[in-house]
Amino acid sequence: MAEPILRVVGLNKEFKLRKSKFREPHKILHAVNQVNLELYKGETLGIIGESGCGKSTLGRCLVRLHQATSGQILLHGQDINELTGKDLKGLRREIQMIFQDPYSSLNPRKTAGETIEEPMIVHGHLSKPERKARVRSLMNEVGLSESHIHRFPHEFSGGQRQRINIARALALDPEILVCDEPVSALDVSVQAQVLNLLNSLQKQHELTMIFISHDLSVIKHVSDRIAIMYLGRVVEQCNAEEIYTDARHPYTKALLSAIPPESPFEKNSQIKLTGEIPSPIGEQIGCPFASRCPYVMEKCRRVTPKLTEVAKDHLVACYLYDSQSARESGS
Ligand code: SF4
Repeated sequence: MAEPILRVVGLNKEFKLRKSKFREPHKILHAVNQVNLELYKGETLGIIGESGCGKSTLGRCLVRLHQATSGQILLHGQDINELTGKDLKGLRREIQMIFQDPYSSLNPRKTAGETIEEPMIVHGHLSKPERKARVRSLMNEVGLSESHIHRFPHEFSGGQRQRINIARALALDPEILVCDEPVSALDVSVQAQVLNLLNSLQKQHELTMIFISHDLSVIKHVSDRIAIMYLGRVVEQCNAEEIYTDARHPYTKALLSAIPPESPFEKNSQIKLTGEIPSPIGEQIGCPFASRCPYVMEKCRRVTPKLTEVAKDHLVACYLYDSQSARESGS
């Protein structure tokens, strides 16, 4: 396989919580915990997990909207965590993000044309006529009419607003697009249109994408590889087909079992998880899924399993696939 264009190594993002009492030490929320990922040119890496699992925080770290607490994000070998000033500004040309809520991510006082043009003004690499021509061309590419150029966000539907956001994200011709739940705020009928648009823009612009979602059917539609996150950690990673045919981690299996069957006559064999969802606040010891896992072993509560290759390009963080642990537990 070729060299990855982006490599995430041991990434952590912690948030210091406000003290409830004056003398109390600050509590720490571990939003992203020891994440390792690789992103290859032209692919879409889907990141999936329940709400609050840290997937959006990870996305924000990748575009430097959050500064990671520790670890590396290597873009073509350069750690973007260390970029400042001009170099950080340069990063915005290489990685752009599309957000979940198409309305709140637009400035209500700017027209569609001004919104799309803004990044080009900030980066100042085009003349005014060139910028205007590029705005018109981007609007066409995302399926908006040139007559929309002077309209304000409130005059558009949700799907059209997300098209404006996509056009704005493409304005600087980035290499990587991080899409954070880009269709989850849209009607189901519009979701498919926006997903198809992203697919065709990816081919047209040779984009590499990270697609964050809580919806397995959306992720399946767009991804080449998928990483499953649980409580700030990646617990399984492999190619998109394999997740649906050969999931290994107990959490992935539970997630997949929650997809409703296509036919009403098919039996729904959903795995019902019991046990408390552990808190991301404070130090985490052992497997993050231990409190809900039906296969939990003694070792799982003591030592955090590492993401290890269990089949070609299929990584899992679970002792069930570590032959020694499985022998010890008698499973
Ligand atoms: Fe379950 Fe243990 Fe595997 Fe965690 S490491 S998923 S607790 S079997």
